Amino acid sequence: MAQLSDDCFAFGGDLMPVDAALDSLRTRVVPVTGTEAVGLADALGRILAEDLTAPFDVPPHANSAVDGYAVFFDDLAADAPTRLPVTGRVAAGHPLGRAGRRGEAVRIFTGAPMPDGFDTVLMQEDCRTDGDAVLIPPGIKRGANRRAAGEDVRAGSVVLTAGRRLRPEDVGLAASLGRRTLTVRRPLRVAVFSTGDEVREPGAPLEPGCIYDANRFALMASLRQLGCAVTDLGILPDRLDAVRGALERAAAAHDVLITSGGMSTGEEDHVKAAVESLGSLHFWRLAIKPGRPVALGQAGGTAFVGLPGNPVAVMVTFLRVARPILLRLMGAAAEEPNLFSVRAGFAYKKKAGRREYVRARLARGDDGRPTALKHPRDGAGILSSMVESDGLVELPEDLTRLEPGAAVAFLPFSEVR
Ligand code: AMP
Ligand code: MG
Repeated sequence: MAQLSDDCFAFGGDLMPVDAALDSLRTRVVPVTGTEAVGLADALGRILAEDLTAPFDVPPHANSAVDGYAVFFDDLAADAPTRLPVTGRVAAGHPLGRAGRRGEAVRIFTGAPMPDGFDTVLMQEDCRTDGDAVLIPPGIKRGANRRAAGEDVRAGSVVLTAGRRLRPEDVGLAASLGRRTLTVRRPLRVAVFSTGDEVREPGAPLEPGCIYDANRFALMASLRQLGCAVTDLGILPDRLDAVRGALERAAAAHDVLITSGGMSTGEEDHVKAAVESLGSLHFWRLAIKPGRPVALGQAGGTAFVGLPGNPVAVMVTFLRVARPILLRLMGAAAEEPNLFSVRAGFAYKKKAGRREYVRARLARGDDGRPTALKHPRDGAGILSSMVESDGLVELPEDLTRLEPGAAVAFLPFSEVR
């Protein structure tokens, strides 16, 4: 389990740009090494741990793309209809068992293997039958409607590389290569907990001054979507011995411990002391808004990620900081989502030197281009603003003033799920 190098989260420095933080993490966080074989039905979202090489051509045989008639192109007249006897029938899964002969046509169906020699297929809709013969109009191209063997995948080519987070089409392609199982990284074991005297389990009575635990459930959902094996440690009491004991036990059986809130230096915040006593803890004053300091540390060989308490800050720092770390630990090759250039549908002022994420939904401008419309409420505790947004506009460190109509980078939530 000790996939973390010694004190890999140590960082000296003041306000740290987000990219610098991610670069330094990328070089220091080492992926878990365990692998397992999974059946294709369970492979979705898993991290591939092998390169997948095609053992044969896909499709394995040349075949017809349509229902119609297979012919030799050179038997067709250039500018008059051609009449050819239909002397055979070949359906998908039922090869003709012989090569094509000059001067004949063969009835063929989509996916049926092309008998050797035939190079062209006429669509049945374009032909007329005449007794045992077919009348073929002129004008077809040589090779039309014939799919070549290996046109999808060539034997010997690498179709998927280790580190790939498997998508539905990947699973389909692996199946087309005859694979029943794939070697994937074992799931990352992540334990999640909350602390805070005001934080209550959903469904429990809500005393005055209390709120329900939103963060833990948003985090557990985010982790499940990433393919992590999640353990729910619930809400830990504000007592150092209790927090320390729970973290020590959890550390032994997990790769990552993750929490939100309670990381400030208040007298009732015991998480910091508990993690420090089990290993080390570092506050990263990330230059990011929303999202106050993020704490990264380790308890033995187990990574600790402490996110801010405000629910929007939790989600933004999870997406931009925790997620790349987790993907890296999982062994994923690509940790960074794509951002897309859209038009700003709002004006905005910000401080230089920090990156800001603005919740926005996308609408179509008059010219059809997507335009980001800022959510009217931007408090770090307004979780409903996330629900009502499609993603985040990322405003770079050096920007201080945004005018409507300017191009901005947009991170759709769908990119980071
Ligand atoms: P803290 O960082 O603990 O001071 O928390 C900052 C804000 O986030 C406070 O308003 C907390 O009540 C709130 N908060 C902390 N933990 C949670 C949680 N698990 N669910 C919802 N809100 C929380
Ligand atoms: Mg608190």
